[in-house]
Order: sequence, then C-alpha cells, then structure tokens
Amino acid sequence: MYGEHPKSMVKTILDRIKFPHSLSPGKLIGIKPNLVLAKPSKTGATTDPRLVAGLIEFLQEKGYENIKILESSWVGDKTSRAFEVCGYQKISQQYNVPLVDLKKDEYITRRCNGLELKVCKSILEVDYLINVPVLKAHCQTKITCALKNLKGCIPDGEKRRFHTQGLHKPIACLNSIIKTDLVIVDGIIGDLTFEEGGNPVQMNRIIVGRDPVLVDSYASELLGFDRFAVEYISMAEKMGVGKGNVEDAKIYEINKDSKPEKILQPSEKIKHLARWIEEDNACSACYGSLIHSLERLREKGKLDKLKEKILIGQGYKGKPGGQIGVGECTKNATRHIPGCPPRAGDIVRGVERLIGH
Ligand code: SF4
Repeated sequence: MYGEHPKSMVKTILDRIKFPHSLSPGKLIGIKPNLVLAKPSKTGATTDPRLVAGLIEFLQEKGYENIKILESSWVGDKTSRAFEVCGYQKISQQYNVPLVDLKKDEYITRRCNGLELKVCKSILEVDYLINVPVLKAHCQTKITCALKNLKGCIPDGEKRRFHTQGLHKPIACLNSIIKTDLVIVDGIIGDLTFEEGGNPVQMNRIIVGRDPVLVDSYASELLGFDRFAVEYISMAEKMGVGKGNVEDAKIYEINKDSKPEKILQPSEKIKHLARWIEEDNACSACYGSLIHSLERLREKGKLDKLKEKILIGQGYKGKPGGQIGVGECTKNATRHIPGCPPRAGDIVRGVERLIGH
C-alpha cells in the first residue's frame, strides 16, 4: 500500500486482509519492530512508531489487550535508549503496552541443521508474532527485512557468534525456530545501503504478508537485488520457513502512489546518484526505486557506463523524449522501462540491457 500516513495505512491493510482471523482475544501478541539502534525512523534505520501505534490501535479496537513490544538493539546500543529515542516509550505509555528489552531476557537453546542457537525466552512465549521490519539494503547480506529482523531476538553474545558463522545459515535457522505469523514492512523510509541508516530513501509504502520468505523475496526486488543473491532467503526456503517465488504470489496494490515527493535532506551518496536523474514531479516510490537501482548498478561497477540521464516523473506524461525513461509517465521516451512504480530490480535489468551490460 502506498501513502504518507502509516497509522491509517496499516489499519486499512489489516482490515482488507481481514486480520486476525481466528486468533482468540486472550492470546499474547508480540510486536517485533526493528530498533537496531537509537536513531529515529526518518534516518532510514528503524521502524516508524506511527505504524506500530496504528497496529496497536487496530488490535485494541478488536479487543486484543495482551500485546507486548519486544526488541534487542544491536551490540553497540542499549535497547532502552532505542525505545526512548525511536518513540516507543511514548507508545508504551499511551496504549499501556509493555516494552520487553530482550537484552535482559533469559534464553533457551535450540538446535537447527547442526547449529545450536540461543533464543530469547520471551519471544518463544508469544502466541502470535507480528514482525515489523524496515525495508533496507545491507552491506553484508544485501538486504535486511523480515528474516533478518529476528536477529533482535537473541542474546548479544549470540549476535556476535552469528557473524562468525557467516550470518546466512543462522538467520535462516532462527526463522525456523521463531515463527513469524504476520509481516508488516515499514517501507515509508528505508535505507539505501546500511542497516544503521544514514542514506534514507523515502518510498511511502507498507508491505504486508504472512510468509517472511516471500516478503523478503519481494523486498529484494524492490531494492534491486535478485532474491537468489540473498543467501539466507533460499536457505530459509529450503528449511520450510516459506516460499520465495514472487511470480507465483498474489500481490495486491492498494492506492497508487501519486503524490510527487523528493527525498528530504538527501545524503551525499544519494546526491551523487541523483546526478544520473532528470526528475519532474516523480512519486516517492518511483524515485526511490530509481535511486536503489542506480546504487545497485554502481555496486556492480556499471553506473559509469550510463552516459545519459534517466527521465522520471509525472511531468513527462505525454511528452516525447530522446532519452531513457523510467515509469509509465515516461512511456514516450525512446527507451523506456515500464512500471508504475517500477521495481528497482526491473530498472537494473532494463538499464543493463540498454547499456549492453
Ligand atoms: S510512473 Fe509516474 S505516476 Fe507512476 S509512480 Fe512513477 S512518477 Fe508516479
């Protein structure tokens, strides 16, 4: 779903999917946002508190009162500081929902595919887990979304050990131990490259799904990666966590993104990428897709082969042009990559074809 008001957007989507089906009101609902560190959501690092507030309001209106927010920030930060800085302390007080700092939790050891993993006890006690990650690229694993967000459900020592084990297999295993029941991806503002934010990209979208493997496969496409390039997605699929074939999935879009909006306070990296763009009233999801795709081309060493600027935006509707155009609005450009908004993966493949790889 596209829009600018995460609180009402999340309620609309949950209504549309007829949440929560057969879950009885006394059950414990766990909400796992991504508060990897103490930085507000506008930096692209953490889950927008307005989205979580909308989710809690929706649940409480349906009679669910047994709700907890659970998180453990990364090794370098205190979860309590992240709860405060990211706006969750306020949510906790306003809706009377407890915050659980998983850094202070006990753990249970579980086995998976030859690995022994320590998992926080409180997350295993949840009856229904709502995983609320942020749509972000990641310097090591390429993306971080639903599957990797569960790394905030293990003790700090285990987080360090995950890195020595290569991240992918333990992340996949973790998802076969902790079952996610619903994923709500905060794609309002995500990040271009790093899980800690710093290069925020506004996409004004929320993605909801029940299968974290499928959601992550779709997220990979939105960020410009082939899902097979993200090892832990395929591993989780093989372990039976979910199915990753986006082509077989039913994807419903609610609201077209129609309000032109530029990235506010773009980082130097984004300003650099924007030199390849000729924009005229582009919607945020469209512009964000293009920024992500240009970064993926840069990472592949192909950006410098792009010798002309890419047209994007509603201002090009009906106008002919002699350059490359991205999105339906530029369909009169000589060379055109379709979509409204296009996915970054489609733009990457389209530009690669146009520049002859
Ligand atoms: S193609 Fe045009 S209308 Fe569609 S998302 Fe892009 S800029 Fe907006």
